[in-house]
This record gives sequence, structure tokens and C-alpha cells, in this order.
Amino acid sequence: MNSSENHINGASLNTDPLNILVFGAHPDDPDISAGGVTALYVAGGHRVKFVSLTNGDAGHHEIGGVELARRRHGETQAVASLQGLVAYQVLDNHDGELEPTLANRRSVIRIIREFQPDLILGPRPNDYHPDHRYTAQLIQDAAYMVTVPNVTALTDHLVTNPVIAYVADRFKRPYPFTPDVAVSIDEVIERKLDALHCHTSQVYEWLPYNAGHLEEVPSTETARRHWLTEKYLPRFAAIAERHREVLARWYGTAEANHVRYAEAFEISEYGTQPNEAELRRLFPFLPAARR
Ligand SMILES: [Zn+2]
Repeated sequence: MNSSENHINGASLNTDPLNILVFGAHPDDPDISAGGVTALYVAGGHRVKFVSLTNGDAGHHEIGGVELARRRHGETQAVASLQGLVAYQVLDNHDGELEPTLANRRSVIRIIREFQPDLILGPRPNDYHPDHRYTAQLIQDAAYMVTVPNVTALTDHLVTNPVIAYVADRFKRPYPFTPDVAVSIDEVIERKLDALHCHTSQVYEWLPYNAGHLEEVPSTETARRHWLTEKYLPRFAAIAERHREVLARWYGTAEANHVRYAEAFEISEYGTQPNEAELRRLFPFLPAARR
């Protein structure tokens, strides 16, 4: 898996495990946006940590508060175990009320510094949900500042700004998501769905209720898992379809045409800017060379 010998900003060879830090606003966002590459990283011996900036205590129609927050925390820990994460950290901010405050910026800076990620994944700042927007804002606000010693001075600063990439979305203004990398997740698609299956309060309760089709959800575990597959696969297939040209850039046209499900990532201007060799180091499951 780790065959290339590229350096990034003087960092160690990629025979060392990569540290991948995935931010989301809610306990399930990292799974939806990056659950596939997560399975690929972990299979390659790399370290992945998820962070939800809120505890998810607004995401239900029947329960809330401490009961929902604790239930959702339990769901994240099931994912951590299933996916082999270093951790699935949940910050105790109320769902629906996240703000890009200085206190939250300091928290994000400390989390980044302590994990020392090679790559940070998170949402873009244009998004329908305020918590998603402010998660993106907080990551942007922490970028660069993680290298400034006098900011949150008691947590050692990073020497280099990590590479930051946005996860896929469909928002068009001010500009559509424009990925630099698209990854086939065909071989890990069942693992990604198994991880989503852990978020019972969301995928089988709140989200179907909110979308007006709660009555569709089957009652048995097996039937639910099957329903989940039918519900979610088209989303991941659509990412492959929309970004077929980017897949072809990395996999070659012939192989790209056979990719069914994908995740895609756009490099943020506020992190270190990787060249192609560095992108291959950061996404080591891409084919070794352009064909
Ligand atoms: Zn969310």
C-alpha cells in the first residue's frame, strides 16, 4: 500500500502511517462524506480519527437532550469499533447551535495539533445547514493558526500547515464542488453502509421522518440494512457519475468507467498545497501511476 517515496514538506516517508482527521458537524457526517476512504486508509495501516463538533442532540423527532446525545454517542463508538478508528470524538456542543467562536476555534486548533494530521477532511462553507457551514468556518479559522506558537500556547504548534480537503457536496453557489481527487470505494462500499447502519437514530428514524418517508422503513435489522443499501447507494453512485473525469485522471479512462461508487475531495486553499506526488502519498490507495 505504501510504496511511493515522496516527501511532503520534509515530513517522513510514507512508509509511516498517515494521520487522517475527518471533521463533521454531526455524529454521522464523517461517515457519509468519508466512510469509504476511511475503510481504505485503515486497511492500509493508516490512522483515522473522526470528530463531530456537536453532540447531535437536535437530530430526532421524539427524543432529545441528554437521551439523544448519549444514544448518538453510542452510535459513534459502534462506528469507531467497526471501522477501526483511532477515535470518534464528539464535542459537547448543542446540535443546531454551533457557532464559529474563539472558544470553538481553540478547541479545533488543539484537536488538530494533538492528532498531527497529514490530511484534514471536512465540509465546504457553503451548505444548507448552519452547523455544517460553521464547521467549515472553524476548520478554515484553525488552518494556519495551528502553526502559530502563541495561539493556544500550551499545546505545541505544528511546524507545517496540514493539507485540507473538502468533502463532496452539491451546492452550486458561489461555485460548485470541484474535486482534485476522486476515489473508488467499490471494494469497501459494504463497510461504509455497515457504518451508516450503526447510526440507527438517524438513518432509520430522524432522517426518514424529516424527509417524510418514515413509514417506508422496515422493522427488522436485515430488512433495514437492505433498505439502507437501496436508499444510499444512488448517492455514492452519483458522486462517481458526476466526477467521472476526475476518476479518469487518477485511474485511467477504462478503469474509471467501471467505478460504481466514489468519494471525492477538493483541496482547500488554506492548507498546504500538495502536488501530484504528494496527493498520491495522501491517497495511497490510488493506482501507483497515471495510465
Ligand atoms: Zn450534518
